[in-house]
Amino acid sequence: MTSATVDTRTLVSARADRMNYANDVINSIGLPTSGTSVNDPATGEHIGYIPDVDVAGALEAVGVADNAGRAWARTTPRERANVLHAWYDTLVAHTEEIAHLITREMGKPLAEARGEVKYGSDFVRWYAEEAVRPGGDFREAPDGGANIVVRRGPVGLAVLITPWNFPLAMATRKIAPALAAGCAVVIKPANLTPFTTFYVVELARQAGVPEGLINVITTEKPADFSNAVLRDERVRKVSFTGSTGVGRQLMAIASGGVLRSSMELGGNAPALVFDDADLERAVDGVFAAKLRNGGQSCIAANRIYVQSGIADDFVDALTDRLAAVDVGHGLGDGTALGPMIDRRAATKMAELTRDAIRRGAQLRTGGVEFDSPGNFFAPTLLDHVPASADVAVSEIFGPIAAVQRFDTEDEVIARANDTEFGLAGYVFTENLDRALNVADRLETGLVGINQGVPSNAAAPFGGLKQSGLGREGSAEGLEEYQNVRFYNIARR
Ligand code: NAD
Repeated sequence: MTSATVDTRTLVSARADRMNYANDVINSIGLPTSGTSVNDPATGEHIGYIPDVDVAGALEAVGVADNAGRAWARTTPRERANVLHAWYDTLVAHTEEIAHLITREMGKPLAEARGEVKYGSDFVRWYAEEAVRPGGDFREAPDGGANIVVRRGPVGLAVLITPWNFPLAMATRKIAPALAAGCAVVIKPANLTPFTTFYVVELARQAGVPEGLINVITTEKPADFSNAVLRDERVRKVSFTGSTGVGRQLMAIASGGVLRSSMELGGNAPALVFDDADLERAVDGVFAAKLRNGGQSCIAANRIYVQSGIADDFVDALTDRLAAVDVGHGLGDGTALGPMIDRRAATKMAELTRDAIRRGAQLRTGGVEFDSPGNFFAPTLLDHVPASADVAVSEIFGPIAAVQRFDTEDEVIARANDTEFGLAGYVFTENLDRALNVADRLETGLVGINQGVPSNAAAPFGGLKQSGLGREGSAEGLEEYQNVRFYNIARR
């Protein structure tokens, strides 16, 4: 590796036809001509404005949602299911529009954005199906003196706060179960990637979601927003996806009104590759778990532990895969890695790399930014990373594969669990017994076994420890928006 500080490869350029298409979609949203500026992270170019809504405006939206929610709570499960099915069909029909929008505002390669549309709209289909199964059951009192009827109903008005990394999926994973349960929502997307939310909420309206049921608020003062709306007694629920620090602040505010709270927070996922892993499968899995979304995912493989016997072969193969990745605008042909979301994130990658090298890690590929107005950082592999390096301790949220080596199963499990986070973990081995034993011992909410993309609509996604509270997706995701009540019916 040379000591270059800038990657000299040519970045893939956006295709003009795709840029025009994406701009047409943004222009169709009907956004303001001034307000908060949104930029393309691959070029730094301004692409549109969003409203900067003040506290009074946010509370007005709470009022609108409260009214709409009261009527919605009285609809039948089938009515709610039909509306969600119609929204799902509309999302699928607009896959190209949404995917171009996601790429333009967030940067991920178009193929990945199409994947997000499939993944994100699948939550709407799943909850259209779940809406007619609201749950509840019948029980008998132990002394036989009463029948207990357990009912599940909507929890009430929900405030949803989403991050920038999956602009569609983080929104639908919250809105769809809320609507299925009979709740109205106020949603605040991230200012970096707001257009997708505005667009798909307009599609929801066109598909028949009643006016006022989904309210989008963007603001430059998110703390003022949460301080006001989470203290409003019409609000009964908060669901947040984002960093652990902000999650803690929101939980503190939510405790005032004893709000139901779902928190999908940060991660520091360990990926364990054992000597008996299938090398190709392990490289494929770790590559996907690392590079998907440019590494900007809460379940991205953060600490890659490789057993000594397979380590050299694994590191060589993963280095080759990373070095061959085409970097550039997500609307270009063949781009496999887009930009980081902002300059700060790209600078952080450079700092993490320098810190790891200073502490003894070996740089095998990447480690440098590109000379570009966009926020590009090369796919990077660091080998022999010391456990104390920042890259091993903090959430990387970028395209750095940080490899540590290990000898025994017990040792690696102790190291993998030595973190306050507990969202995702990965295990690569061809030994089923070992796979299940290790998965049992990992302190994480989800474990990918011989694969790097473990989330889908049927899976109860969520973290242990400081990675969060509650689950999204699956039947458990619906329960997050339901109250449980019972009627005790006396028997003679
Ligand atoms: P962030 O916490 O900075 O922001 C997330 C959202 O919260 C944004 O909409 C932001 O505007 C808003 N926000 C910030 N401060 C707020 C406040 N005081 N009150 C109300 N809203 C506020 O996180 P980010 O940088 O957008 O996203 C990256 C983080 O999200 C990472 O830590 C990542 O692990 C996490 N994440 C978790 C999951 C999961 O499911 N567990 C999924 C994706 C991302």
